[in-house]
Amino acid sequence: MSGLTCVAGLGVSGTAVAEVLAARGERVVVVEAVEGERQRRAAGELAALGVETRFGAMDLPEGVTRLVTTGWAPHHPLIAAALRAGVEVVGEVELAWRLRPAGAAPWLALTGTNGKTTAVRMLTSILLAGGRRAAAVGNVGEPVIRAVTRTGDEAYDTLAVELSSFQLHWSGSLAPLAAAVLNVAPDHLDWHGSMEAYAAAKGRIFERAGTVVYNADDPEATRLAEPYPRAVGFTLRVPRPGQVGVVEDLLVDRAFVADPVEAAEELATLADVRPLAPHNVANALAAAALARAAGLPASAVRQGLRDFTPDPHRLQHVARRGEVDYVDDSKATNPHAAAAALSSYPSIVWIAGGQLKGADVDDLVRRAAPRLRGAVLLGADRGVIAEALARHAPDVPVVDISSQDTGAMDEVVTEAARLARPGDTVLLSPAGASLDMFAGYPARGEAFARAVHGLKAAT
Ligand code: ADP
Repeated sequence: MSGLTCVAGLGVSGTAVAEVLAARGERVVVVEAVEGERQRRAAGELAALGVETRFGAMDLPEGVTRLVTTGWAPHHPLIAAALRAGVEVVGEVELAWRLRPAGAAPWLALTGTNGKTTAVRMLTSILLAGGRRAAAVGNVGEPVIRAVTRTGDEAYDTLAVELSSFQLHWSGSLAPLAAAVLNVAPDHLDWHGSMEAYAAAKGRIFERAGTVVYNADDPEATRLAEPYPRAVGFTLRVPRPGQVGVVEDLLVDRAFVADPVEAAEELATLADVRPLAPHNVANALAAAALARAAGLPASAVRQGLRDFTPDPHRLQHVARRGEVDYVDDSKATNPHAAAAALSSYPSIVWIAGGQLKGADVDDLVRRAAPRLRGAVLLGADRGVIAEALARHAPDVPVVDISSQDTGAMDEVVTEAARLARPGDTVLLSPAGASLDMFAGYPARGEAFARAVHGLKAAT
């Protein structure tokens, strides 16, 4: 191959891309802004494979014919330079799709504003319960480029692929066996530029899918599925023919059965879904539909859901102190995720704030208002939430924590405990990203849990 590929960044996926391409004898150069210890080590290992790494300025190296990104924004200087120069820009996922060997594992792909990681892990658990050699990849787990290039005993037979809107933006030719859109609500508008562009990126997952699976209770996901006449909807209501849904306490399939008009097949019970909350039942239904599209039996769906261990920082119960429950939903980095959490408890002291990324919180606050005992606000955009609370919940006491250091979480939790009454839930479901104050949502959740456990010592 005569071209030169530029890889954007020495992250886990970028490094994997460079290694895989170099192993194929292709010419590769990596551009990386930060020259830390980890990056120097990775660059050293790549140098041994003949790959040059350029640290510092984000200039497009001379002679580049293709640029590979994990999910950088089109307006990033390096990407913008490539686009201006007419250089093809592809995502790591797209490259993996193109490089997968003949007869490689089919992909079951999913996207959505929220629930991707939960649903992809449920799906993987179902696939494993059905005897498949499967793994969750994409936005989670090992880089897709590595998963598709495994060989022999190491190779997978089915891949559960979680795709972010960023990855989909740079993926033009994926043809998964089945693809699902869990939900679409405003998020990452700063990256995509508009809600239309964000939804369009999500919709790309359907373009070449064998089976289209969509959330029939979500208007935007339903709209994205409209061009596909045989699309399978999932719903929290009683399923129509051609849908999967809920009948009393059962998850029921009326899509992947011999005669959807006559027949329905029981997949699992609501009690098999953990944590049991409406949005999570939707995640389970999406995972079940994808698995069914790949031919998995109902018994695997049930067993897989039972085997599934929920990930931390997603409605994770931390402790009960003085008849008050403390719940860590730090992963709620947008209003849509926080809305799911806020509708899961009757009386809440809400801990919120962080970076809203341009999202509007008015609707969220208006709907949550009747359930709020109080609110404690922290982080960069707390003022926006305070204003919405003043408009829609003027009687709810609000504590504003102006300190921006990570120790502020102790103060936050102390104030929340003061506002709570027996039977309440103190809920960290911030509706914003954490990077203004923390290394990431896990660090924010851990700070919360530490502060909650610290309460015990104080009381
Ligand atoms: P993602 O990978 O899309 O970020 P996660 O499974 O990590 O999704 O969950 C992110 C956040 O969204 C968590 O706060 C979780 O409680 C919430 N959540 C999970 N599933 C849904 C859903 N279907 N709708 C709304 N919120 C959800």
